[in-house]
Amino acid sequence: MAARVIDGKAVAASVRERVAVEAAAFEVDHGRAPLLVTVIVGDDPASEVYVRNKHRACEEAGMRSAHHGLPAETSESELLELVAELGADNDVDGILVQLPVPDHIDPDRVVAAIDPAKDVDGLTPVNAGLLAHGMPGLVPCTPAGVMELLRHEEVELEGAEAVVVGRSKLVGVPVSRLLLAANATVTVCHSRTRDLSATCRRADLLVAAVGSPRLLGADAVKPGAVVIDVGVNRTDDGLVGDVDFEAAAEVAAAITPVPGGVGPMTIAMLLVNTLAAARARV
Ligand code: NAP
Repeated sequence: MAARVIDGKAVAASVRERVAVEAAAFEVDHGRAPLLVTVIVGDDPASEVYVRNKHRACEEAGMRSAHHGLPAETSESELLELVAELGADNDVDGILVQLPVPDHIDPDRVVAAIDPAKDVDGLTPVNAGLLAHGMPGLVPCTPAGVMELLRHEEVELEGAEAVVVGRSKLVGVPVSRLLLAANATVTVCHSRTRDLSATCRRADLLVAAVGSPRLLGADAVKPGAVVIDVGVNRTDDGLVGDVDFEAAAEVAAAITPVPGGVGPMTIAMLLVNTLAAARARV
């Protein structure tokens, strides 16, 4: 294997340590620790695990967290009411409604109802619009984590050819906006892209955010490229990314593993966002 393996766990740990120091200073200055409130509707086991990990991370960083677990039959208007209450509560700094929500609830309507100043997932139309306009706002956690990894690895983005595979609101689009803001030349691929591998092979920086196990092989990687694999896919061989790690690592200069690459960064950046939201509200 030629490529350097980018250690997301280590970078995330250093971000979390930094947040802990800054959260302690915030508490000294303002007499309260930042507060993140999570909401789950229903009993999706994966959501329970994600949210539990977020609460543990808050605790370790010296931040407060609270949780509302609502029954699956909660109506959209009841959920919107809770989101409005949390928005009006001056003690609450961050609001996170864990997706997915049950089918009878429109996730876009719920996300849009979150106070943008407390939108620590960075998914409201206001924060997405600020990002699209290159203005400061709360940035979605996984894309922010990708950028933090690239900063840590000192990857030169100015003028670089970046190819992002995936155009979701959660990952692909915000990553591409952040790369554009960093002056990369950005191409966004999706399910209708013709000759995906050839397009990816142009990339100095390849970001895969698809959700298709080992979709991208060595033929999609330019020699010497940096490969960031956001994909998390459960297979019979365990968790794998969207990139065939073993094959791509023979060609790339640096690559994130799955697990242990982008994944740990997401929670770290949620803490960063919660602290930023708390600071912006004082
Ligand atoms: P998503 O909403 O399902 O979006 C997937 C994107 O991939 C879509 O834009 C889709 O194109 C594109 N796509 C699908 N098949 C393709 C193909 N064969 N060739 C090229 N593009 C294709 O998924 P997401 O929420 O962005 O998540 C993507 C992956 O990242 C998933 O594995 C998810 O589990 C993972 N993820 C990880 C973290 C983390 O913390 N590590 C966080 C979030 C997500 P169309 O738009 O044309 O349909």
